[in-house]
Amino acid sequence: MALFRSTLRLRPPARGAGVLVLWIALGLTRPASAEPEVRILLRTAAPAVTVRGSDVQVAADAEAPVSARRPEVRVQVRGGRLRLAGVAGVEGAERVVLTSAEPLVVGGTPYLGRIEVVAEGEGLTVLNRLPVETYLLGIVGSEMPASWPVEALKAQAVAARTYALQRRLRRRAAGHAWDLTDSVLSQVYRGAESISPSVIEAVRATRGVVLTFAHEPAEALFHSTCGGHTLPSEQVFGGALPYLAKRPCRWCRDSTRFRWSVDLNHEEVGALLERAGLARGFRKLERAGEEADVIVHDRRGRHAVDPERLRAVVGAARLFSTRFEVARRGRGLRLDGAGYGHRVGLCQWGARGMAEEGRSYREILGYYYEGAPLKRAY
Ligand SMILES: [Zn+2]
Repeated sequence: MALFRSTLRLRPPARGAGVLVLWIALGLTRPASAEPEVRILLRTAAPAVTVRGSDVQVAADAEAPVSARRPEVRVQVRGGRLRLAGVAGVEGAERVVLTSAEPLVVGGTPYLGRIEVVAEGEGLTVLNRLPVETYLLGIVGSEMPASWPVEALKAQAVAARTYALQRRLRRRAAGHAWDLTDSVLSQVYRGAESISPSVIEAVRATRGVVLTFAHEPAEALFHSTCGGHTLPSEQVFGGALPYLAKRPCRWCRDSTRFRWSVDLNHEEVGALLERAGLARGFRKLERAGEEADVIVHDRRGRHAVDPERLRAVVGAARLFSTRFEVARRGRGLRLDGAGYGHRVGLCQWGARGMAEEGRSYREILGYYYEGAPLKRAY
């Protein structure tokens, strides 16, 4: 789930000519335009990589495949050039593209599309290149359980597609060699590992549909559980966007993180705060209410700490959100909180609850991203 995107900073949409360029690049002016390809970073600075498949073929850059079909290809790097044992025709290449009729396997994970290997100094960069709709087949089931109602999965598919295309445009405009990583920093991507029939149905039924704002893909942020209401983007990421406003949500009550408690050791919290430079001679932590300032008392006095910063220091998998109250309990601290994740944009458990009430994915997205109309990009 996209829980750790607190490092992401929202930027206002580009203005003027930039909008037109992005609009055309995404194909929003041409409904029949082709489906874009995305480049997912799988490895950087790797000393070697082995790619397996039923019939792996190798091409230097965009040329026709040169190697005979083989079950496995090992790529190494020497002096900024690739070395592929037993493959003729790609000597001295700085980039190769591997294809196969069956999914290609890298590090035990199967990938649809192509694998591209690039020499970067004495290391290898490994990318998975594939059409965005195929990428979504590997994303939606990683971000949301495939057993959830299909209208919730469709809402997730649109949010994930919008996020991928928005990142792709920004990364390419800045001249980067890849668009997304495979981790929670982008969207959790496990290749072709978690593709189920319900995910295929959700992706196909929403093909090309994205959330838009000012003629660009929107910032389609999503999180696990809002705990009662979502947060406006400016409260978490600093940039105000009208479609990422505070929205009441009564549909995520079934989430185990709707309400939660965690007990923390007083000394450990002190040590973590000291190491992060947030306390010197830690005495206590207090908070007047679940959305008030977090106050650290130390030998210098009392000072406020950004709840997002505190969450990062304690660990986002222990401190599930920034909405919590603090109480002393014996020698420890009891934190009673609500929600899981940054709480901006689509509430995934809320989408599940709305779908169970019979709402469509359009109604779900229209609720959490009000003011960001849906459009078909291709
Ligand atoms: Zn919610």
